[in-house]
Amino acid sequence: MESKKYKDIDRREFIGISAKGAAGISLASLSVLSGCADSEKAKTVFGACYHDCPDRCSWTVSTVSNKVTDFQANKNDPYTAGKLCNKMVSFPNDVTFHPDRILSPLKRSGPKGSGEFVKISWEQAISEVAAKLKDIIEQKGGEAILPYSFGGNQGMVQGGAISSRFFAHIGASQLERTICGDAAVEGVLATNGQTTGVLPEDIIHSRYIILWGTNPVLSNQHLWPFIQEAKNNGATIVTVDPFQSKTSEESDWHIQPRPGTDTALALGLIHVILAENLQDQEYIDNYTLGISQLEAHVQKYDPVTVAQITGLEEETIIALAKAYATSSPSLIRILIGMEHQVNGASAFRAVAMLPALTGAWRHFGGGLMHMTYELFGEALNWESINLPATLADQKTRSINMVELGKALNDTELNPGIDALFVYNSNPAVTTPNQNLVRKGLERNDLLTIVSEHFLTDTARYADYVFPATSVLENWDILDSWGTPYLNINEPAIEPIGESKPNSELFRLLAQEMGFKEAYFYESDIDIVKKTLDSNHEYMKGISFTSLRKRGGQKLNLPTKWMPHAEGNFKTSSGKCHFYDPNLEQALPEYIPFQYSDEEIKQYPLHLLTIKTPENFLNSSHANVNHILEKEGKFYLEVNPKDAAMRKIADGDELKVFNQRGRVYITARISNKVQQGVVCMPQGFWPSLLKGGSSANALTNHLLTDMGRGAAIQEARVEVEKV
Ligand code: SF4
Repeated sequence: MESKKYKDIDRREFIGISAKGAAGISLASLSVLSGCADSEKAKTVFGACYHDCPDRCSWTVSTVSNKVTDFQANKNDPYTAGKLCNKMVSFPNDVTFHPDRILSPLKRSGPKGSGEFVKISWEQAISEVAAKLKDIIEQKGGEAILPYSFGGNQGMVQGGAISSRFFAHIGASQLERTICGDAAVEGVLATNGQTTGVLPEDIIHSRYIILWGTNPVLSNQHLWPFIQEAKNNGATIVTVDPFQSKTSEESDWHIQPRPGTDTALALGLIHVILAENLQDQEYIDNYTLGISQLEAHVQKYDPVTVAQITGLEEETIIALAKAYATSSPSLIRILIGMEHQVNGASAFRAVAMLPALTGAWRHFGGGLMHMTYELFGEALNWESINLPATLADQKTRSINMVELGKALNDTELNPGIDALFVYNSNPAVTTPNQNLVRKGLERNDLLTIVSEHFLTDTARYADYVFPATSVLENWDILDSWGTPYLNINEPAIEPIGESKPNSELFRLLAQEMGFKEAYFYESDIDIVKKTLDSNHEYMKGISFTSLRKRGGQKLNLPTKWMPHAEGNFKTSSGKCHFYDPNLEQALPEYIPFQYSDEEIKQYPLHLLTIKTPENFLNSSHANVNHILEKEGKFYLEVNPKDAAMRKIADGDELKVFNQRGRVYITARISNKVQQGVVCMPQGFWPSLLKGGSSANALTNHLLTDMGRGAAIQEARVEVEKV
């Protein structure tokens, strides 16, 4: 993809923004933002993508007099490889300089949800919000306040640090941030004790690659060239996905099981491998626990039974098991996809057993590829990111973010939630059971505070909105959950208008509330520097200075990273756990969600809501006109047989509904989904759609079997023409 030059941006836009910037910030900033860009000189700084994406691209931003003249991918970083994806290529125009950006604090002046606000000063906003929070703490206790944040900004400073200290200090309810990733992680940890397996660039050595519930062509784009290199070197690429994704179309083989049946498929593969005596017995004997229990357990997952569960042919299950077990190096790439079902963690747990069963870990490029965040857990100095010792032992209650709608409407909750503080998140779009969330946000007795770039569907319900800086305007440090590359983000320009980093917002509130503790007043740049101040071997050659000079750097890892070639699992026994009597289920089991007969009759179609948009990520940038135009209509994939039964033609306007809500959407008839399954994209803003509802109006707030994640793919619907 081409990087976008900004020399041709409408000059009036720059002047207008510059003038707003020159208008100044009415509340004197604390002096902790030292190191901001010098607005007088031409300069180029390195930064990194803050999005909820495994690629964590590194970029450069060139500026003159606080104006961006160039924004492009970092060519020094071999993983970014000089390319940003569609979602970010025009970021300065799409967010930083977008005319709709919020540039001053706002106070609600109309009914909740109306989007009617008046501008107020930072002094007034901080003073009023601090007074209201203090009042709630005095009347009901800190637990009546709920922070709500997630992957809207994955920077370690702007995503946590000061905000975490603030909420821990006031004794707020803790938020279980499990909407994405935790079920997957819990499942893999149960088997391997760590998620870091094969590193992304090492996939070029793999010769049999199973992409299980992941769509790298769209959502892990910088891994895809390495997969193609492996293919050019002779690798077979198999995709397992109930949806016919772009990746499946590029693969040698697409295996399309019924949604939510991955655990059964994985256990079926284990059955075949053992039945055919294709296991690596020496590896099993030396480095695993529980093979006899596993072997007995998978007897019931024979190909006939698994074929009935998954909808696959018996021959497909047998052929996949044999091909996987007899190819080397064989690699299974998992990410998040299959976690969003009630049986999701068990699926990851079972899939993670396959490389140990076949001894794939012995071979460079063989094993399981999942996450990388643990590398940074070891490499960095977390003192300034983690809570200080005096706050670390939080005893306050936890509320799961998946269940926000339930919590906001729960009259039995004691104390009830009186204040919701949202930052780096847009729950009116991204949280399941959208109508219940909205009902909660409509409560007149709920104080809602939002820090944002735009008047999102959540911010429309806020009592106060604070203008947040974009990533071009603040310091940060970005580790990665999908690569071994570390980045810092240096501010390229001074904050636009009256925007401030999240860190500064929470410092100002702490100051206003009279908190004297030094941990509130550590500057952003000091947090970045201290976090990099580590003697760990992975950090050899990496420093604040080197990251500033060249952008993203790979951790100093061994040339051949083979974590389990000789066992070394991070489980309690040091072995791969096929069986663990300490878990609620000693072995992974296929346990589907039990819908009532009535629900199946009323809502006969299984709804998948997935990340198929090519031009925006989650709900970020899904308000920008040219992006929405590029993305096209909000569509429902319908199998031709289901369409024929309902007399639906391609392009028809549809109503999709269930007991939780209804969505208006355009039909796209295709074989991308099997009969009985329909699929719509996540991320569209309800306020920009007909009927004011998007995908999460139909999803439920069910939790997964482990990790308390979001089982959003457990939803049934009916569809009719309108
Ligand atoms: S969203 Fe992902 S692929 Fe796109 S620029 Fe950001 S990190 Fe890179």
